[in-house]
Amino acid sequence: MKQKEERKVIVIGAGFTGLASAAILADAGYEVTLLEKNDRPGGRAMVWEENGYTFDMGPSWYMMIEAYENLFSIIGKKPEDYYKTIRISPSYRVFFSENESMDVMDDINKNYSLFDGFESEGGKKLKKFIDQSQKMYEIALQKFLYKDYWSFRDLMDKSLIKDGLKLKIFTKLDKYVKKFFTSDKAQKIVSYHVAFVGASPPTSPAVYALLAHCDMNLGIWYPMGGFGAIVDALMKAGLEKGVIIKFNTEVSKIVVEDKVAKKIITNNGDFEADLILNTGDYESGEMELLEKEHRSYPKKYWEKKMIAPSAFLIYLGLNKKLNNFLHHNFYFNSDWDKYFDQLLGSNPEWPEDPSIYITVPSKSDPSLVPPEGELMTILVLVSADLEDIESNREPYFDKILEKVEKISGESIRDSIVIKKIVAHEHFKNTFNAYKGTALGLAHTLRQTALFRPHHKSKKVKNLYYAGHYTHPGVGVPVSLISAQLACEKIIDDVKKQLV
Ligand SMILES: Cc1cc2nc3c(=O)[nH]c(=O)nc-3n(C[C@H](O)[C@H](O)[C@H](O)COP(=O)(O)OP(=O)(O)OC[C@H]3O[C@@H](n4cnc5c(N)ncnc54)[C@H](O)[C@@H]3O)c2cc1C
Repeated sequence: MKQKEERKVIVIGAGFTGLASAAILADAGYEVTLLEKNDRPGGRAMVWEENGYTFDMGPSWYMMIEAYENLFSIIGKKPEDYYKTIRISPSYRVFFSENESMDVMDDINKNYSLFDGFESEGGKKLKKFIDQSQKMYEIALQKFLYKDYWSFRDLMDKSLIKDGLKLKIFTKLDKYVKKFFTSDKAQKIVSYHVAFVGASPPTSPAVYALLAHCDMNLGIWYPMGGFGAIVDALMKAGLEKGVIIKFNTEVSKIVVEDKVAKKIITNNGDFEADLILNTGDYESGEMELLEKEHRSYPKKYWEKKMIAPSAFLIYLGLNKKLNNFLHHNFYFNSDWDKYFDQLLGSNPEWPEDPSIYITVPSKSDPSLVPPEGELMTILVLVSADLEDIESNREPYFDKILEKVEKISGESIRDSIVIKKIVAHEHFKNTFNAYKGTALGLAHTLRQTALFRPHHKSKKVKNLYYAGHYTHPGVGVPVSLISAQLACEKIIDDVKKQLV
């Protein structure tokens, strides 16, 4: 049996999960090579620069900062060794219509007053809601997020079930929220977060109310330089520990002999490996890289899954400053039942009047733009079951931009100097994403914990998986936790001489 120092580990994918995993395994003494199909790191969080405008193409909300701190601590580092963070204040602006916007604050007492304006005793109700969300979050941290699930026995944690039932975490989120609030505005502000982890209030369990605590108590933060600064930090940490990174290297096949993965075939040569950790999209990692008999999950498995939405994304560089936007802004459309049905239900359609997320990070970080410029990303979540036809993009862009101008009362169109639009095809071509999903596997009760695809192959002894399809799920903080869980499994299997 080889010593761990002699074990060659190949990590596939240099997104957040792959970068974090590579650094953890190199820190643990393994010889790690990271293979990435694109020419840069970050995966969904890659950075795109043009004419002095620096866009984070993916994430923009820096929440659950302890997950980042925890990840860096595993490799003996702190986030501040690499990048600086600031708390965003106010947290964000919500537009409900053309004439109606309100700011959610980084001071919870001010949010109580805001909710008093929505309904009788709104502030008191918000306090109760957030107290419950905090309890859910603490339970999730202690008993759920950092634990891996391999069998039903792992789910049978009596205290988790008892606490969960008491807090009603298994109820549907929309029903849970309606027990606290009668006003539509209050209901939306405490539950919109789930859309960004690829779920919806009618389909996801109430445990996702914990995100309201992350938002209103723990706050929305920003890494100066953008998410690209965190990507650079993880890459630097890995390189410091000896990780070898190969960009423009797309894995096309994992060769398996006697249930052991032996070799990886890429467009940039073949690589031998003792252990493989695949952090690319799980579905293509199985369906395209493995022969049928070595796949843990057949085609039918993926067809039955609820796939998280794709995104219609508009990146704009503007040659003027904007007055009516904060760093983070939302437009919440009125009919959420119809909208979420179009997004995740049985009725996939390009929504005529979708909810819209608008981020203007240059409000906090002038380093992203030339002087007097502004940077704006507009995100519309759309069903992964839609066809992304190039000729449809410009008319849809017009519709969305018109709405953004109307709700904000600010003209944008005439100030555009940089413009890029992407949707499903970008996610398919750039990341091998199943159906062009932006976010991987949706969060429903039936796609939680044990019921997400596992961190270890059922058929190939030395093949592991991590990333947003696996437990705990979608979003950067939890992708980092998935990296930690998969690496712990690898290290444990090696210790027990199982691989
Ligand atoms: C538009 C958008 C906005 C988001 N906003 C937020 C947010 O505000 N906050 C938040 O926390 N999260 C957000 N997320 C979610 C978050 O970005 C993801 O959950 C997280 O980045 C997933 O990281 P990952 O490493 O698991 O996957 P990925 O980032 O997809 O990385 C996988 C990597 O594997 C590579 N790869 C795939 N197949 C192969 C192959 N065969 N060979 C070699 N390489 C391969 C891909 O190119 C990719 O680089 C957002 C996502 C999107 C798309």
